[in-house]
Amino acid sequence: MAHKITEACINCAACESECPVNAISEKNDARWIDPDLCIDCGNCVSVCPTNAILAG
Ligand code: SF4
Repeated sequence: MAHKITEACINCAACESECPVNAISEKNDARWIDPDLCIDCGNCVSVCPTNAILAG
């Protein structure tokens, strides 16, 4: 299961540079994690200012 970004995302992009596999990109004015790329490392979770990223 991949990590997931919820509606709490404010599109700050803080998580994007933390992802080692470039799974995070912009989609519909928020950040989105591609489930086919995410390796569930969890790096993105702690940098999110709104706790919008959930473990898979
Ligand atoms: Fe990228 Fe790791 Fe977050 Fe998955 S859990 S989106 S691999 S930083």
